[in-house]
Amino acid sequence: PSHISYAQGSKVQSFQLFQQAKEWIPGGVTANIKHFSPHPIFMKCAKGSKLIDVDGQEYIDYLLCYGALITGHGHQAVTNAVKEQLDQTGTTVFGTPHELELTLAKKLVDLYPGIDMVRYTNSGLEATLLAIRLARAYTGKDKIGKFEGHYHGGFNHVLVSVNPELDDAGSKYEPIALQNRVAFQKHELKQTLVLPFNDLQSTKNLLRKYASELAAVIIEPVQGGFIRAEQEFIEGLREITEELNIVLIFDEVKTGFRVHLGGAQSVYGVKPDLTALGKVLGGGYPIGALGGSKEMMMLCAPTDESDVFSFGQSSRKKTDVVFHSGTYNGHPVVLAAGLATISLLEENGVMEVLFAKTNHLRTALEKLYTTYQIPMHTCGMGSIFNLIFSKNPIRNYRDLWGTNHDLRMKIDMELLHQGIYIKPGNRYSMSISHTQQDIDKTVEAHEKAIKKVLS
Ligand code: PLP
Repeated sequence: PSHISYAQGSKVQSFQLFQQAKEWIPGGVTANIKHFSPHPIFMKCAKGSKLIDVDGQEYIDYLLCYGALITGHGHQAVTNAVKEQLDQTGTTVFGTPHELELTLAKKLVDLYPGIDMVRYTNSGLEATLLAIRLARAYTGKDKIGKFEGHYHGGFNHVLVSVNPELDDAGSKYEPIALQNRVAFQKHELKQTLVLPFNDLQSTKNLLRKYASELAAVIIEPVQGGFIRAEQEFIEGLREITEELNIVLIFDEVKTGFRVHLGGAQSVYGVKPDLTALGKVLGGGYPIGALGGSKEMMMLCAPTDESDVFSFGQSSRKKTDVVFHSGTYNGHPVVLAAGLATISLLEENGVMEVLFAKTNHLRTALEKLYTTYQIPMHTCGMGSIFNLIFSKNPIRNYRDLWGTNHDLRMKIDMELLHQGIYIKPGNRYSMSISHTQQDIDKTVEAHEKAIKKVLS
């Protein structure tokens, strides 16, 4: 790597590519979240914990494709599994059932207490979408409840109050449902009830009030991968949803395999009705999956066993079956990469070492910021965490309003110059490829960034 710094502005190739990209791609990015100022960085190659950009600058990667790459970039075991899959079958995709679908489904049933059966999708978004559809079919009710600040993918019912602004969001006990994007229809907002995270009493009050209309409550058990649901809160949520016949959906797209092999539900010992997975499950290839109780998952089963060919004569009408489809669902190459990834994580001690590394980095950073008398603490679970520029504990989305966002953005921008890749403001994910040397370099880079920002 030649270490041409991001700082060199318009001279860098990333900048030039970005100018061209804007001609052909709205905003120059293929997902809005990939944009940041002054311009996003275009990457050329990657290996293990490192990314290398088109200008030859090397970065230690803590974004890891928004947490998906738990083995790091291009892990040999995952690459081999993909190559073998392609060589042995002679195709990329069958478009028919195949055995890997069962192998991975059984694995998920073994690992996740809330999963008896599985359907695959191509993204986390599709998994949460299917979850909501199943919950509606199961309960015959329409509304869904979601927590303020929680993200479940970019579709209208859940893209509500994800990043609400301080002035608009209403009472902390009964938040106002806010669309933060244009092009929603007003009636869609009425389908979504916004709930206050980690406030059991207010959540209970709202759920009781709307129980007759609520099909489901969807929750990130660890919001954004770093704000933990309190134990009492998540247990209480399980109890009240059961009592009120509301389906409880755990969105474990981010937490799945990252906080425990069996997701946050295994950490909390709380069993949801439906579980959405994604990210790590695909081993770096696009995936999502929905798992849940047999009773609920069977709602999307097209026929009874005795009725394989004569769909129309089934006791359930064709129109009763919950629609779920997708050209690439259960893609063999993706499942092979996912299985190889899970096998690596299942090896003795691998998760423990990953968590120990993560804790080591968290502790070292906290110590460093204390030395410079900058209020900063980390919060997270397992292999994900975030830096919080505030003394105060963070229990929900609103607590983030009180943190020093400007300082965070300045530090992150400096870190990019120092070869630490974190999309400004984003959370840190660790991989099994990160080394002690990476951790030491990261702490050193933070120290340089602090000095620069303070100067
Ligand atoms: N749910 C959670 C908790 C997520 O973090 C994400 C993605 O960041 C999604 C759902 C959507 O997943 P995807 O981007 O694969 O559609």
